[in-house]
This record gives sequence, structure tokens and C-alpha cells, in this order.
Amino acid sequence: MVTTTAVLSRDPAAPFTVETVEIDDPRDDEIRVRIQATGICHTDLVTRAAGATDHPVLLGHEGAGVVEAVGAAVTGVRPGDRVVLTFRHCGTCRNCRAGRPAYCVRAVKLNQFGARADRSARVTVAGTPVRDGFFGQSSFAAYALTTADNTVVVDTEVEPTVLAPLGCGFLTGAGAVLNVLRPDGDSRVVVYGAGAVGMAGVLAALVCEVAELVVVEPSQERRALALELGATAALDPAADDVVPAIRKLTDGGATHALDTTGSARVLATAAAGAAIGGTVVAVGLGTGVPEIDLRDIVMGGKAIRGCLEGDAVPATFIPHLLDLHAAGRFPIDRLVTTYPHSDINAALADQRAGMVVKPVLTW
Ligand SMILES: [Zn+2]
Ligand SMILES: [Zn+2]
Repeated sequence: MVTTTAVLSRDPAAPFTVETVEIDDPRDDEIRVRIQATGICHTDLVTRAAGATDHPVLLGHEGAGVVEAVGAAVTGVRPGDRVVLTFRHCGTCRNCRAGRPAYCVRAVKLNQFGARADRSARVTVAGTPVRDGFFGQSSFAAYALTTADNTVVVDTEVEPTVLAPLGCGFLTGAGAVLNVLRPDGDSRVVVYGAGAVGMAGVLAALVCEVAELVVVEPSQERRALALELGATAALDPAADDVVPAIRKLTDGGATHALDTTGSARVLATAAAGAAIGGTVVAVGLGTGVPEIDLRDIVMGGKAIRGCLEGDAVPATFIPHLLDLHAAGRFPIDRLVTTYPHSDINAALADQRAGMVVKPVLTW
């Protein structure tokens, strides 16, 4: 057992609290990772807001660190390995076998506070079990118990604070572009929402050397950063009439659009602003029913599809993104702002205010 520090949520309406927790030793199939950095992702906050208050909740699903100990049955991961933690998948269902682990049929069970088979507690605070196992890591703590299927070994000197968001946010945005949309030099790409996911999508579209790259984002700071990184235009949805502006900037509409907002209204805008034959990919978790013009979709041959975790196979896609980063073509370090873990509440306030793109906690 290790006694260590964690950031807990005891009440969705109250600030996070820094507390001392006990983390059990790894079982045969578990890995103990010393966490160096953890990104804060929108899904942490959505889950927290929807969460119960019966147990303290240990969130965090963008951890990066160093393996300290592995259970007897673990293969492919050794003490001392540098690792990026990502989402869990079973490895045996039809979607996992088809190389689509984000659509693992057991994903919800595995990632939403998945428990040990014997129901024993992995993490306790003053003897009380904590609700943990979030994305198989609950990495808002200085140590995490993980499994081989969500622990990606990386061979890199990149800072842990830059590595951490590769497990979810950067993987999601970059994967939606590189794995699903696959634009090329003729493409006119529009990205809706320039948070961490949207910005990773912007960087991925630049990797594809697209002809036009338009960002639609309410925050002035984020629009400026997108232009600095290489976007060809940035629209303010509060000031610009988005669909006509996009048609003008893209010579008739977006051939490829990425909607990261989780807003039904924005998805409808993205569909309307798509070119004939264009594709819209939605990655933001939201609610609501988009009002989409059937005639426009059919006559335009437009495709609209959802996408989780960038359709990525993390074990190969994360190293691929690190290769692009090493070549100077995927400068994700520009998107990261680091905070000591004790400043998590300030980090969230800065993110809400649009002052930072991807807050990352250090341990
Ligand atoms: Zn599966
Ligand atoms: Zn996430």
C-alpha cells in the first residue's frame, strides 16, 4: 500500500479538495504508476457534475508517469517504463478485434468507475472506499493503479505535462482528423470550438497541409492562438453570421468539419456549412437534438458521424503523434498550461474563462 496525495470531489457543487489517500498494492493484472502529470478534460467535469455524493470521487483520466510496480500477470509493461494512460478496452469484443477499441462493447463498464472483480477497494481515504477506477486510472493522484490495456509505453524525452493529454483530449481531436476526416491538400476544413480537442484537430489539419483551415470559437484569446498556430481564418460565432462566412472562406462550404462543442445547435450549423459531399464529425459529449435539413443532407451527400477518442488505437496512435511532435509538426506544448495539483480549482477557473486551453496538474 502507498499513502499519497489525491484531489477528491466530495460534492459536485464544492471545490475539489487535496487529501491523503491509501492506494492498495497492484493485483496480478494491475500496474502501479507514479503519476507526474494529469490533464483536466471536460469529461472529468461532466462526470463530476452528474455524480453522486455517497462516496468521495477520484477523477482524472489523462495521466502520465513512470511505472513503479507490475502484477505477476502483466506483460509488455515494466517498472521504469514511461507511460501515457488512456481509456480501457476489453481487447476481445468484436469492435476491439476490429481495431476499434473506443467502441468496445464493455467500454462503459470498464471506464465508468470500473471495480475490481472481487469488489475490494483500490483507494481509500481514512479507511473509507473512494469511487475510483475512472478510465481505469483515476489519475488525480500521485499514484494510480492501471491495467496493461490502458497503459501505453512511450520512448520519449517529452515532458510529462505535454504527454498527459495525449491519453484523451489531444488523441480525440487529432484522431478525428487523422483517422476519420483524413483531409488533404485540396480540403477546406472547419473546426468548431478551439479548446484542447479542437486545437489538437487544428494541429492535425495542419499536418495534412489543408488548403483552408477555419476556426469558429467565441474566445478571442483562443482565436488568436489558432491563427498563430496556422489557421487561415477565425470566426467569432457571436459576431459573424457563421454559415455564409464559412461558405465564403471555403469556396462553397467545408469539405471536412470537426465539431468539438457538444452543442446540437453548433452541429446543425456545421452540417449547414458543409460543402456538397462534405463530412462532419462530432466529438463533444452533449445533449439535445440537432435540427438538420434532410434535403440539404441528402442532396448534398453530406455525412455526419460521431467519433469517440479519435477512433484511435492508442498503443500505435500516441507514438505516432509523438513522432509528429518530435518532427516539429504537432506542437502540443503550445496548448498546455501547468498548475501544481493543489491549484486545481484555480486551473478550472482559468479554463472556464477561456484563458487556458489545456490545464495540466503536476504531482
Ligand atoms: Zn472490447
Ligand atoms: Zn477526456
